[in-house]
Amino acid sequence: MSENITGRIYDIQGFSVHDGPGIRTTVFTKGCPLRCLWCHSPESQKYPYELSYLNIKCIGVELCGGLCLNACANGALRVLEAEKSSVSEEMAAKVEIDRSKCVSCLKCTEACPSKALVPSGRESCVEDIYARVEKDRIFFKKDGGVTISGGEPMSQFEFSCNLAAKFHENGINVCLDTTGFAPAEQYLRILPYIRLFLYDLKHMDSARHEKLTGVPNEMILSNAGVIADGGGALQIRVPVIPKLNADWENLARTADFCAGLGEAVQQVQLLPYHSMGKSKYERLGWIYKLTNVDPPGDEFMAKVLELFESRGLPAMIH
Ligand code: SF4
Ligand code: SF4
Repeated sequence: MSENITGRIYDIQGFSVHDGPGIRTTVFTKGCPLRCLWCHSPESQKYPYELSYLNIKCIGVELCGGLCLNACANGALRVLEAEKSSVSEEMAAKVEIDRSKCVSCLKCTEACPSKALVPSGRESCVEDIYARVEKDRIFFKKDGGVTISGGEPMSQFEFSCNLAAKFHENGINVCLDTTGFAPAEQYLRILPYIRLFLYDLKHMDSARHEKLTGVPNEMILSNAGVIADGGGALQIRVPVIPKLNADWENLARTADFCAGLGEAVQQVQLLPYHSMGKSKYERLGWIYKLTNVDPPGDEFMAKVLELFESRGLPAMIH
């Protein structure tokens, strides 16, 4: 195990109650081989650093002196017409990014005093992340711990594996939130350190899976079996997205597949689609493509729950 090994993360969040059992601290790694159309964390997808801009935090060029404009050598920032400031009654002339000119050098993020411009992503080593998470240990109690999420943590395998080992060996239980899209031998190597794999099943048909996520599903389905056969525990997560994967045939095939994994499946979480990640796309200057999809209704979700329970699965709507 190496404590000096570094990886690229984009956030560490404490007090999470959605990333595995109990109260958890979640470490989000950067970079993912999938491109799910409904992705709630677009800032996690690309491995290179990106420029993120939150207009509401910009205090205006008069107040800060236009520090970002001076920092940008590429003319990628321009001043907008003044609008009412979010921090005072004054009018403020905020900035806009011309993404076609921006080369992601991130110089403007060092200059911006209000953190309106921030880098998405930073390097961190196992030891530093451990020290940060250790501060939350008192809140973990019996079930809580750390979750390594992303992005796809397995796409920085040596880093994620060393991180998991460090927590495990110091008595902090580890959940790994993974797409399942990584070599089987890597899952077998990391398995001894993982208390629970949070494992997404997005579509059972490989061609359709590829259309929705950018990759086929054979390796993902096969790795679920590798983890189950290797003695790992799985929390299967099924996003339920009308028009994309929420047809009855696919849901029934998904339920059958989960049932086939046997006792390794500790829980199936059915996740009704929502578009709450949409504003993150704007911050990165990206376009959110799922504009014609609505969340599934409560009645429909209740029927999906019944379907999974009819296979004897410990399912819940999350
Ligand atoms: S990241 Fe670099 S190129 Fe892009 S706006 Fe900021 S300073 Fe300009
Ligand atoms: S983005 Fe930051 S540096 Fe640029 S005008 Fe706004 S507050 Fe000033």
